[in-house]
Amino acid sequence: MVEFICGKCGKEFTDNEIQIKNGFIRCPYCQFRILYKKTPELAVTVKT
Ligand SMILES: [Zn+2]
Repeated sequence: MVEFICGKCGKEFTDNEIQIKNGFIRCPYCQFRILYKKTPELAVTVKT
């Protein structure tokens, strides 16, 4: 399980909750496209 934080609204969610539309991942709350992986040492920007 991977946890993500939305780059816009800041809400946290897991990859199970992530919204995928037409192959693009989106924040399930605000549809923002840039999500940050919530990992202790890696801050990876996921761009689609
Ligand atoms: Zn969001």
